[in-house]
Amino acid sequence: MPHILLLEDDPQVRGALLRALSERGYATSAAGAGMPGLQAALRDRPDLVILDLGLPDVDGHQVLRMIRAVSRVPVIVATARDDEPEIVRALDGGADDYLVKPFSAAQLAARIRAVLRRAADPHGRTEPIRVGGLTLDVTARTVTLDGRPVELTPREFALLRYLAERPGQVVGKRELLAEVWHLPYGGADKTVDVHLSWLRRKLGETAQAPRYLRTVRGVGVRLAAPDQP
Ligand code: CA
Repeated sequence: MPHILLLEDDPQVRGALLRALSERGYATSAAGAGMPGLQAALRDRPDLVILDLGLPDVDGHQVLRMIRAVSRVPVIVATARDDEPEIVRALDGGADDYLVKPFSAAQLAARIRAVLRRAADPHGRTEPIRVGGLTLDVTARTVTLDGRPVELTPREFALLRYLAERPGQVVGKRELLAEVWHLPYGGADKTVDVHLSWLRRKLGETAQAPRYLRTVRGVGVRLAAPDQP
């Protein structure tokens, strides 16, 4: 279930949007100001951010710029009516879409679905990715192994997808940290190891007896069908 982070200072609007989003099955979190919101965006790694441009502490455009400096998370900006220059500036600044207040929950939900679809598939890919008995539906973000569903977190899915798009190719941990975690300046290799071990468990394999995920010691990991060398 995608996680949506809402940055909105009006408690009434915030409460109503959070209710509407959770009724639609989204996981939600919220912040009432820019700096706590930015921290939440970096810490919680939501799948999408809804950003009110009029925030009490930091200008929304600046929050957007700070998010974009470190993350590609989709951002929908929300702004008051008659703010066309604001909207243009936000889109130029890296926002994925915008909503003009007041907007309905139904409209918000439709924008979220559209932005998440594009984010899941920036290249317009709709065909599932198949490696052996493993199938990734990149639009629905679901995985099956030999026809049985595998429940993955968004991060595990992103990791598996990155490897499945490069079958047989050895991918280094630095590359995974940059491309899957969006940590271009590096992070802990252990993060990758831990997620790989979770992924292995969900795919019913171990590092000692690998099927799809093969560790290449000192280099990285590669994903290949069990019957491939
Ligand atoms: Ca506001």
